Amino acid sequence: MDFVASGTLHSRTKVCGKTNCKCATDPEARHGPYHEWSRRIDGKLRHSVVSSSQAELLRRAIANHREILALLHLWKDKTAAEILNPENGAKRKPRQSQRINYEKT
Ligand SMILES: [Zn+2]
Repeated sequence: MDFVASGTLHSRTKVCGKTNCKCATDPEARHGPYHEWSRRIDGKLRHSVVSSSQAELLRRAIANHREILALLHLWKDKTAAEILNPENGAKRKPRQSQRINYEKT
């Protein structure tokens, strides 16, 4: 069982504002990265600051969640198609008794 998480992860670096700090002039010397995980819990947006190792796990968990949602979406579409157009299912597995002929007249 792999991790699954909803929401989004934001990672960014920051400048501290001190003029004598390296970060003021060198973009490579900016502080961080800082990671923030945002997700909805009972309709309310929640933010959590997480470590780099937690961010790595969350990145994978969020990707897993999106993949599951995409599969679920596909499954729902196929279910609707099967139920509303059962002849498509018959075409896929042709059986003589179920075959319907649409002959052009
Ligand atoms: Zn700085």
